[in-house]
Amino acid sequence: MPELPEVETMVRGLRPVMAGKTLASIQVLDPHMLVECTASELESRVTAAHVESVHRRGKWVVFTFDDPAGLIVIEPRMTGGFWLIPPERPDHVRLMFTVRGRRDPVWFCDTRRLGKIHWFRDSGEAQAAFQRSHGPDALEIGLEELSGRLGKTGRAIKPALMDQKLLAGIGNIYADEILFRARIHPSRVASGLTKSELERLQPAIGQVLEEAIKAEGSSFDAGYRTVLGLEGGFLAQNAMYGRGNQPCPCCGGPIQKTRIPGLIGRPTHFCPHCQPLRVNKKAATKRKA
Ligand SMILES: [Zn+2]
Repeated sequence: MPELPEVETMVRGLRPVMAGKTLASIQVLDPHMLVECTASELESRVTAAHVESVHRRGKWVVFTFDDPAGLIVIEPRMTGGFWLIPPERPDHVRLMFTVRGRRDPVWFCDTRRLGKIHWFRDSGEAQAAFQRSHGPDALEIGLEELSGRLGKTGRAIKPALMDQKLLAGIGNIYADEILFRARIHPSRVASGLTKSELERLQPAIGQVLEEAIKAEGSSFDAGYRTVLGLEGGFLAQNAMYGRGNQPCPCCGGPIQKTRIPGLIGRPTHFCPHCQPLRVNKKAATKRKA
């Protein structure tokens, strides 16, 4: 947390306030979060710079500026988030943008300080850094590339989907929902998925993430909030995460809450009836070698 839908919701909230505007100042309150640059370097580079765009790449929030101000990338990681209204915990503010013509600053807060703030010279440098640590964006990956990437891993499908190097943007909540939608058991070996399973999985990724973006993400504790301090609505409409022992919306059987290897400390929710571990090999079309 936050995952792709939460980060996309942040970006959509920030864009109208920042894109096309000029930064009056940027103030780093916690230099601990900066990667390979100092607070004074960052402040001198982007103060008075024009914000070209605010967009998302995987779970990164990317601010691009006119030359030569470069780009700022903020990774919210576990507990980072942006506020357009005064934040609930002002003591957790790590960075503030002041936008010309706007009275209130834009606050970046991070309770546990696990987030990162990077500066890159240009988009090529940022892209190279992204590609070193991330696979393609989960909303953009096609069936062929997804099949190719999953075909190379002997791990269970759920941790494989959550591996940012394989596919960027999916975390625990959405992995459970995607696998339920695709009727795939979370412990199935990724490279052993059938062609028809892969054909269900790829569209399920996009559908679930788009629905979650519409709902403005998921809030289940004091963590994620929208830029206006509101809770995301996805966990009021989802089928699996947080619903152990409740009836499956498809078959009515009890949803199982369990732990699977490769995901220490994070629960997995699935329906043993709709997502059987053994697939009918005769019915399933064998995937291409
Ligand atoms: Zn079911």
